[in-house]
Amino acid sequence: MDAEGFRKYGRQMVDYIADYLENIRERDVVHRVSPGYMRPLLPDEAPEKAESFDEVMKDIEKIIMPGTTHWHSPHFHGYFAAGNSFPSILGDMLSDAIGCIGFSWATSPACTELEVITTDWLGKMMNLPEEFLHSSEGKGGGVIQSTASETVLLCLLAARTRTVAKYKEADPSTDEMQIISKLVGYCSDQANSSVERSGLLGAVRMVKLLSDENFSLRGETLRKAVEADKAKGLIPFFLCASLGTTGSCAFDNLEELGPICAAEDMWLHIDAAYAGSAFVCPEFRHYMKGIQYAETFSFNPHKWMLINFDCSVMWIKNSSYLVDAFNVDPIYLRHSCEGKLPDYRHWQIPLGRRFRSLKLWFMLRSYGISGVQEYIRRHCRLAKEFEKMILDDGRFEVVTQVVMGLVCFRLKCSNKVTERLLGEILADGRIYLIPAFVRNIYFLRFAICAERTTSDDVKFSFQVIKSCTDRLLQKVSLKNGYKHVPVINIDAPQHLETEESKYSSDSSTPDVDQ
Ligand SMILES: *Cc1c(COP(=O)(O)O)cnc(C)c1O
Repeated sequence: MDAEGFRKYGRQMVDYIADYLENIRERDVVHRVSPGYMRPLLPDEAPEKAESFDEVMKDIEKIIMPGTTHWHSPHFHGYFAAGNSFPSILGDMLSDAIGCIGFSWATSPACTELEVITTDWLGKMMNLPEEFLHSSEGKGGGVIQSTASETVLLCLLAARTRTVAKYKEADPSTDEMQIISKLVGYCSDQANSSVERSGLLGAVRMVKLLSDENFSLRGETLRKAVEADKAKGLIPFFLCASLGTTGSCAFDNLEELGPICAAEDMWLHIDAAYAGSAFVCPEFRHYMKGIQYAETFSFNPHKWMLINFDCSVMWIKNSSYLVDAFNVDPIYLRHSCEGKLPDYRHWQIPLGRRFRSLKLWFMLRSYGISGVQEYIRRHCRLAKEFEKMILDDGRFEVVTQVVMGLVCFRLKCSNKVTERLLGEILADGRIYLIPAFVRNIYFLRFAICAERTTSDDVKFSFQVIKSCTDRLLQKVSLKNGYKHVPVINIDAPQHLETEESKYSSDSSTPDVDQ
């Protein structure tokens, strides 16, 4: 394809994208394909001869769209929002065209410098402590990572190295592997699965601690675990606290946890992947109280801040814990201006990196801080509207307080009935949501996801849920024809003795089966 062809098909593609997003409501939010649907539609091998791009464009609707879940449809309420906006898409287009690999300042100074500036902008928008900003002229600053999961792993590895170094310094004869074998990290039973996975990848114990009745991890729980583990000869070294858990958007108590981490010299990482975006609004910042104890903080603009995947921002107070801990420095990566600005290759696991700050810059300039705040507040208002409809209906209960764009609700019946309701909703296919299972309670998560979701969209989704509920509760015997819907269990604690009973044996609430 030459530049003329790119102009022609580029315009067609931009039109296609604009139409797709503008009219996305009209599409079925979930695909109806079965595994392997694509194989018969495509040849077994790549084409020997070049095809025309017209042919390629035709196949988008024919082959790709039928197997696409439309995450940006206002009828999509699963997981959490996935970021998207036109300025962000344009930023990524330009980034793809420049196509630099910005692992050091010298490989493309704009790539590093815009990231330094935009992560400072974001940090200031959220009122992060000064030490997290590049402009503080200390060792702190922000960096764009791919995902929150990668960030947790990186922080855990940095914490591991820091603790090992401390013990080595105290007694140089101690064996590093011996120290690592004694390390223990903590998170709440509500933490994202990526935290447990970081423990596995980093080859250290990761203990899930029981959260309180509001699914919040409390200081006393951490203190007891630390004491018990120290008595066993283990070395507590890391805590990943969550602000806005995946299951129910619960908040760990940083003001209680922080001082314990400080006293025990444990690395405190804060994972605010979803809820972090809301901190651009001052009314949500009370959840951040205690953030001054954190070594690292991260959130995902690619979730709830209008930025396309991938863009997960992490801030660190002392970047030398990353830069010095994992420094390999072959001659071909060096340059003559080292040390004046970050060489971001030291701040991440991969070497190569995209020019991701462009989409952030485009979005922030196009919306302004006030536009971002307005977007967040609108989503929170819509969640409240949905909560009211659910409560007014009388047959439902709301499981956790609705504080942001997520409503967790269930039928006032046994878990099994709510599980069947999800089956009805998914079979209906007009909207999409996923369940969670926390503390033996099975519930549905209704997340406001699409940028342009309106009150009418939320009413529509509620009507779908209502009609599915009517249909379900009319069925005389629920036992006949019971169809098991596999539970996408995003959050079930696995290590806690108290959590052993399965929801299916739950008998504490009336069951329409009986
Ligand atoms: C979504 C989510 C993650 C994972 O985010 P990725 O960027 O996909 O790794 C981590 N923590 C929380 C609380 C989340 O909600």
